[in-house]
Amino acid sequence: MNDFAALKESEIVAWDRQVDVIVVGCGAAGVSAAIEARTDGAEVLALEAAGESGGTSAMSGGLIYLGGGTALQKACGFEDSPEQMTRFLLAACGPHADEEKVRIYCEGSVAHYDWLVECGVPFKPSFWSAPTAEPWNDDGLMFSGGEDAAPFADLAKPAPRGHCPAAPTASRHGSAGGFLLMQVLARRAAELGVEQSNNTRVRRLVVDDHGAVVGVVARRFGQDMYLAARRGVVLAAGGFVHDDRLLSEHAPALVGTDKLGVEENDGSVLRAAMAVGAATVHMDAGEAAFSVPPALVKPGILVDAEGRRFINEDAYLGRVGQHGLFHRGGRVWLVLDEKIFDAAEEFRGPVQPDFVAETVEELAEEAGLPVSALVETVAAYNRAAEAGRDEQFGKAGRWLEPLRPPFAALDARGRFRTFTLGGLRTAPDGVVLDREGVPVPGLYAAGRITSGIPATGYVSGASLGDCTFFGRRAGASAALGRTGNSTAVEVGSCAIR
Ligand SMILES: Cc1cc2nc3c(=O)[nH]c(=O)nc-3n(C[C@H](O)[C@H](O)[C@H](O)COP(=O)(O)OP(=O)(O)OC[C@H]3O[C@@H](n4cnc5c(N)ncnc54)[C@H](O)[C@@H]3O)c2cc1C
Repeated sequence: MNDFAALKESEIVAWDRQVDVIVVGCGAAGVSAAIEARTDGAEVLALEAAGESGGTSAMSGGLIYLGGGTALQKACGFEDSPEQMTRFLLAACGPHADEEKVRIYCEGSVAHYDWLVECGVPFKPSFWSAPTAEPWNDDGLMFSGGEDAAPFADLAKPAPRGHCPAAPTASRHGSAGGFLLMQVLARRAAELGVEQSNNTRVRRLVVDDHGAVVGVVARRFGQDMYLAARRGVVLAAGGFVHDDRLLSEHAPALVGTDKLGVEENDGSVLRAAMAVGAATVHMDAGEAAFSVPPALVKPGILVDAEGRRFINEDAYLGRVGQHGLFHRGGRVWLVLDEKIFDAAEEFRGPVQPDFVAETVEELAEEAGLPVSALVETVAAYNRAAEAGRDEQFGKAGRWLEPLRPPFAALDARGRFRTFTLGGLRTAPDGVVLDREGVPVPGLYAAGRITSGIPATGYVSGASLGDCTFFGRRAGASAALGRTGNSTAVEVGSCAIR
């Protein structure tokens, strides 16, 4: 028997506890599910393997991808519409983005922003425009997905959609946005009466004679507990970036990278769901944040081991990272000059170049790159910059400046920070589906344990946006119960049936 195989209800002598809805994992997806299920009147027990709620969500920068005309966008003077947002996300989160989920998400985005505010999440109505991955102060809004860069700027009207909770202090350098988000949501859940059990690791699911999920087996301080869920179990245990076996099988490029996620993102709950027939989708997909300051990347040029450019450098860093890791084997160098380095002083952080040289030939030799190819690449780039037009990749004119001596290069191998995007196949209402697309009765899921809005591509904020929005929907569906499919639920502006 595999370690994750489901337990038959008939084998349980007595349940230790019965509630309406059990939520597994208390990150952004789980807490949102718990809040919504409780709001709908269900008795909710949230189980968390770690000593406190938060998960990876609490470590994050806190950017939440929202738009379509949120109050924050309006207050900062930006116009947006669900149509433009949908157009952008379908392109940026593809190929093979789930069109139904993306549309529902974009149509419900304004209402979801309002819900976060009602929960107490603070957003300051000010816009951050500097080239950084997150605001360095308490500004609430920024471009976070390359909306204003090729190839997306021509596909949809660019609008900033990265909504970042304002930390209590003026300086938020680091990850305080995610911590604040989780503090507020966890407090809201507690106020509503969600019961949370920490240090409680779910190990297996429990099924009845018809294959419906009716509870879980959880272990707390060495003691197994049998916990029944009258209406449903919501899985929200995060991605599987720490499961090297699943990674080797599906996403080998992520093995050995700098992994973004709490160690509990180990794939075990995902495997328990697979053991009851749940299907998975896009298991090979991953986010690969390229951890070089954008203030250096955008005006520089990125080359692969052949000494050739491979992307417009003003693209969103996650897109740069995905192209670099998945299509260039992670062998990427950033080439720049002294002028770029000096101009980026305020936003480049402690990064220093690995190689400095007076000529491109010397630089190539120092960095171990093919000399003639790099000379050709820099010459072609300089011609494009002088003409103010990057025909090859469409980098915007404001970032085009010829590279002049002295030159510098940064060996960017190993600068990919990753988490998984693939996972359980779910309907937009959070119901977990089997390989035939049929719901697994009693089982719901949300967040990075599922494949969501960021199907294969990624934009910053899409994970927390997806976790909170679809977490709510999964919680609402679970509160309806295994036989409740005929009732409509309102989450965002869209009814679930
Ligand atoms: C440094 C950093 C910055 C980031 N910045 C952003 C950003 O700005 N915007 C964005 O959208 N995304 C960002 N991300 C990614 C984002 O944080 C995650 O993808 C997201 O938080 C996943 O949420 P989740 O609820 O699915 O999982 P998690 O937040 O990881 O929650 C899962 C929870 O389940 C628990 N758990 C696991 N297994 C079990 C079990 N067997 N039993 C019980 N509990 C279990 C875990 O302990 C954890 O608390 C960032 C990530 C990092 C690390």
